[in-house]
Amino acid sequence: MADVLVIEDNEQNLYLVTFLLEKHGHTVIAAHDGAEGIGLALQTLPDLILLDIQLPVMDGYAVARALRKNPLMDATPIVAVTSYAMAGDRERVLEAGCNGYIEKPIDPDTFVSRIFAHVKNGRTAAPDGL
Ligand code: MN
Repeated sequence: MADVLVIEDNEQNLYLVTFLLEKHGHTVIAAHDGAEGIGLALQTLPDLILLDIQLPVMDGYAVARALRKNPLMDATPIVAVTSYAMAGDRERVLEAGCNGYIEKPIDPDTFVSRIFAHVKNGRTAAPDGL
């Protein structure tokens, strides 16, 4: 079972992700913006970070880059969750330091297994669909 930091500004998405992770026995630490997320990451040292890309003030790319600069966070799996559908976003997500990429809308039946597939594969794994 994993301690998962979820950085997500949308309450409905946060509720759904929390519900799904807890249903599978994981523990959720919730952050509502990038600054709070970085603070909680360093404070709680989670096993995994789920990172919304569309966040106010500091977007998910900036959050991922900031996390990767910290030696405490350079190996923690980060999985981006985003509704962006534009070409190039997968590359941007990986370049920012994320391990993988899951698109919204979230599929409740496969979400948790897809997250942990990224973790198992490690940072060099191809994102979904590639
Ligand atoms: Mn968002």
